[in-house]
Amino acid sequence: MIKRTVLVLLIIATLVLSSCVDSKVGTYTAYSVAMDTQAAITVYGNNKASAEECARLFEQLDKLLSVTAENSSVAKLNKRGYVEASDELSYIISQANRIKEETNGAFNVCVYPLVKLWGFTTGEHRVPTDDEIKAAALKVASSSVWVENGNAVLSEGALVDFGAIAKGYASEKMAHILKENGVGAAVISLGGNIRTVGKKPDGTDWRIGINSPNGNGIIGTLSLGEAAVVTSGSYLRCFEENGTLYHHIIDPQSGYPAANGLVSVTVVADDATLADGLSTAFFVMGMDKAVNCAQKLGVEAVFVTETTITVTQGLKKSFTPDKSIEGVYKTIYLD
Ligand code: FAD
Ligand code: MG
Repeated sequence: MIKRTVLVLLIIATLVLSSCVDSKVGTYTAYSVAMDTQAAITVYGNNKASAEECARLFEQLDKLLSVTAENSSVAKLNKRGYVEASDELSYIISQANRIKEETNGAFNVCVYPLVKLWGFTTGEHRVPTDDEIKAAALKVASSSVWVENGNAVLSEGALVDFGAIAKGYASEKMAHILKENGVGAAVISLGGNIRTVGKKPDGTDWRIGINSPNGNGIIGTLSLGEAAVVTSGSYLRCFEENGTLYHHIIDPQSGYPAANGLVSVTVVADDATLADGLSTAFFVMGMDKAVNCAQKLGVEAVFVTETTITVTQGLKKSFTPDKSIEGVYKTIYLD
């Protein structure tokens, strides 16, 4: 479990936002802790009630989607193999299945038997045996989840975890609520998920920092209008055994934490649910396949390894490397 202080620092680092509150238009930030993350919803103008509504929504979605809370819909689904599907759950399942297809299974919410085996979400981290991993990977490969007659249904023995898409969904839903309530400018920050609404009242872009994987500040800044910016990394939820680092993003095919040189992937897209799913999927796919997939789907990305930062074409003008990374990372802009 990440300590609250670390989460707060993470949010501060992620959200450069140049906190330059417009002198004429005040801001209000509502906070909430759920999904093992702190949410900060900052609205411009007199929109306190809307920000608070979003903060409450975050807690409600946690109760619906948590894989560990005993009475959540997802826990019931995993226990019984079916559960009544709310509109939210139906939508998340449809998006999860779409992303699974688009990424050739690199993204797979049925990966939970493997996630659990490695002790992620249960907190009992351990390196499983090869046989255990093979057996769980086989199970995952034959698993599926779908919606039928108003129920979410699992194939025999399948287990799901929406941890790789739920925060994106939550921030997208918050953005819709804010817009419906007439909020013209806002920033929703849910851990590594940032969703901006509108433009800053002074007309300038939002400035969103990408955290340095080594925990020291940021590697660079993205200047963007309305967008979803979601980062998946190997450096926060991980454990070490005999000098090897094992992290929480699992390649469903091999059953092991994805190991292709990437330490973080940031996806920029219009839709936060898609951006969240893809940031996880791209981390599993590795850079070459991920770049092709990003082009196909019309999203942009920043890929970080130990020594390089690779920026897709559409972010060439948006990305500014931080001065602190000079001599540490080489920045590559794709054509
Ligand atoms: P992402 O890259 O977006 O997601 C990675 C997570 O997705 C992994 O942790 C794993 O769960 C799953 N995953 C791994 N590989 C794949 C794959 N190939 N395809 C699809 N999914 C994959 N954590 C706690 O420690 N305590 C809690 O009380 C707690 N409550 C939660 C409640 C909810 C509703 C949710 C959604 C999550 C909760 N979590 C909790 C989990 C924690 O927030 C996750 O670690 C987090 O969702 C991972 O998000 P990320 O953005 O860091 O990484
Ligand atoms: Mg994700």
